Amino acid sequence: MEIKVLFQGFPGKLQRGFLGWSSMIYISTGKQKILVDTGSFGDAPEIPKRLAQINVKMEEIDTVFLSHFHYDHIINAHLFPKATYLLSRIEAEYVTGGSGDWAVPEYYFSHLEKTGRLKFMESEMLIAEGIRSIYTPGHTPGLMSLLIEDESMPTTLIASDAVKNIVELQTGNVPMAWDTKVSKQTIENIKDRVTRVIPGHDRILHIEKDGVIACHSVKERIQLPAGISEVTGFDLGISSTTGAEECPCCKSVIDRRQLHE
Ligand SMILES: [Zn+2]
Ligand SMILES: [Zn+2]
Repeated sequence: MEIKVLFQGFPGKLQRGFLGWSSMIYISTGKQKILVDTGSFGDAPEIPKRLAQINVKMEEIDTVFLSHFHYDHIINAHLFPKATYLLSRIEAEYVTGGSGDWAVPEYYFSHLEKTGRLKFMESEMLIAEGIRSIYTPGHTPGLMSLLIEDESMPTTLIASDAVKNIVELQTGNVPMAWDTKVSKQTIENIKDRVTRVIPGHDRILHIEKDGVIACHSVKERIQLPAGISEVTGFDLGISSTTGAEECPCCKSVIDRRQLHE
């Protein structure tokens, strides 16, 4: 099995609102090609390019796993012409039941339904060998994550917004939650169950005895038009500092000190 972070999530906000840059994960089992979430507005033209870099065509994606129905995770789902869209039944009821959640684009639900390829997960289920959908509610009522159990890698949760970033995994404090208490309990359960988490809006995270560390193998860069100098990077990490150590999965440099202030 191969897992690739196609787009790295980013936790940033602006004064004018939430950026909505979420993680998008590609999984190949050898038999199946699975995409976990589909990014936000603005990601559309980049998706086929990044898949092409790993020799995958849009029409080759068999399954698009939609963790929950927030716009920043689902809005490009229609770009995959042959995929089955998997969404939990509980989340579907949240969307169609008048959630009042500003991040849910209700109109898009009926658009996906019309394809005839939107399927509802009635319970936790095996998506492929070693890949199981599990309930991780709190951020929204029906949010599901993917649990990956494969001997080639540490037990991993593709958490989406069950864990948005490193701070949430460390502290259990979650802003923007449908139910804060449920969300906090979900994070506790995740910590008991896995050692690696791919969050909705951050880098790959490793759960260790004395804290959480972030892997810096994937980096996005903010690009500005020529004539405007680059003002900031999309790199959350500190590198080339003394006391730096290696990330256990990608061997890139991590720095523990930033995480224990
Ligand atoms: Zn969300
Ligand atoms: Zn999100």
